[in-house]
Amino acid sequence: MADCLFCGIVRHEVPATFVHEDETVVAFRDVNPQAPTHVLVIPTEHIPSAHQLTESHDATWARMLHVAQQVADSEGIGEGYRLVTSIGRRAGQTVDHVHVHVLGGRQMHWPPG
Ligand code: AMP
Ligand code: ZN
Repeated sequence: MADCLFCGIVRHEVPATFVHEDETVVAFRDVNPQAPTHVLVIPTEHIPSAHQLTESHDATWARMLHVAQQVADSEGIGEGYRLVTSIGRRAGQTVDHVHVHVLGGRQMHWPPG
């Protein structure tokens, strides 16, 4: 998608600090971190949110979770971290390219607000 911010990051047109990159999934640091570790894991394919995932994306979604796990370990937070994906404005989604937030390095609270 030409006007999608995260597609721009995938294409290296928008600067980002990458922590992982492969053909199907990239991960980079959130520009406005909400925890000592705050990384976004996204598919290289443009998918608006987790609500638009279809069976054809099963491998991509699984790969995203596996990359999130690898990021958590490489960031040293493997013992406890939170994965978040927001769907739609009502849930606070601001970038319409599905992403999993990997948050850790501090105590997390519930409910998340
Ligand atoms: P969400 O609000 O769940 O859609 O998450 C979007 C996230 O993208 C927010 O946490 C933003 O801080 C983050 N973000 C926005 N622009 C950039 C950017 N250029 N590089 C890295 N993270 C960004
Ligand atoms: Zn996109």
